[in-house]
Amino acid sequence: MPALRQMLAGEPRYRIDQLRRAVYRESATEFEQILTLPTSLRSALAHQFRFESLDSVRSETSSDGTRKTLFRTADGAPVETVQMPTERAGATTICLSSQAGCGMGCTFCATGAMGLTRNLTGSEIVDQFLHYRRRSAANRTPDRAVFMGMGEPLANLREVKSAVRLLVDPQAVGLSPRRVTVSTVGLPRGIHAMAGWGLPVSLAISLHAPDDQVRAELVPVARRFPLDTLMDASRRYQQQARRRVTYEYTLLDGVNDSLAQAADLTRLLRGQRCHLNLIPFNGYPGARYRPTPRDGIRAFRDALRARGLRATIRRTRGRDISGACGQLHAGALTGG
Ligand code: SAH
Ligand code: SF4
Repeated sequence: MPALRQMLAGEPRYRIDQLRRAVYRESATEFEQILTLPTSLRSALAHQFRFESLDSVRSETSSDGTRKTLFRTADGAPVETVQMPTERAGATTICLSSQAGCGMGCTFCATGAMGLTRNLTGSEIVDQFLHYRRRSAANRTPDRAVFMGMGEPLANLREVKSAVRLLVDPQAVGLSPRRVTVSTVGLPRGIHAMAGWGLPVSLAISLHAPDDQVRAELVPVARRFPLDTLMDASRRYQQQARRRVTYEYTLLDGVNDSLAQAADLTRLLRGQRCHLNLIPFNGYPGARYRPTPRDGIRAFRDALRARGLRATIRRTRGRDISGACGQLHAGALTGG
């Protein structure tokens, strides 16, 4: 931020470190609370800059400990973020939004039905993480970030890259790169770009069908990027980043959950370094699909495993507060 650099120009070098530590590592939520800085500098900073780029509008906590917060950007765009307990006791995962709304229009996703308001900036993305880190009790410390909130991260490449850099920078947020996951609807150019970042973050690709026809029904952008192009990009990523890719597959009753489709899926993914994560469909008002029954989900998983594919069922979190995958739609601000 050039204006900030200018303001700190006459200050000793260690001031920048003090400020950085306070912003990224401590629980201050205003410049006035950074007691390591002289009072005059604190008030000058408070006068000229916002400490947090997002205002929190309201939060809800689920019976399973998941917490969802609705934010508003300075220009009024709605953003939702979710904090989920992880398997490891005492740690949490933050589900970040990369855009206010989403322009991809997937037919099973509440965010898709909202349309796109705008891309978020790198600081608006990182501030979602910091909001929770500054306010969480020691036994709920966020140590993992997944780009699985609102928006398509690879449709906002520049800002997502800058956010990812800050998330993994030891001088900034300092997360282990392996604990940052970017989930994409499957934009091949974005996947190629990510492979070139040189940051060993995790990639998840939303697949949802083993063939172009069903996939295009669920994911309209799939018409522009057929599966062979997407699989090429994914394989290249696996080689270049030397990482296993996670495929996400939301199971919809009678649409993509037959055992024949499970067999097609194993054929499509044969030979790849990958893992398949099955997501039970989460409903929302106006949804046109039904979830696959529990038995059907297990049968689908078992059919994949029997053919040698690594497959797991994602545990659903926060459904009672509409904080689960695909339920984010910022209802309080949009009236929906
Ligand atoms: N835009 C990105 C990341 C956000 S969505 C993407 O599409 O990957 C995160 C995950 O939730 C995606 O795998 C998405 O397909 C899935 N999802 C969307 N709507 C859902 C719903 N109603 N129920 C279950 N999963 C859903
Ligand atoms: Fe956007 Fe992902 Fe929802 Fe599709 S599933 S509309 S890409 S947020």
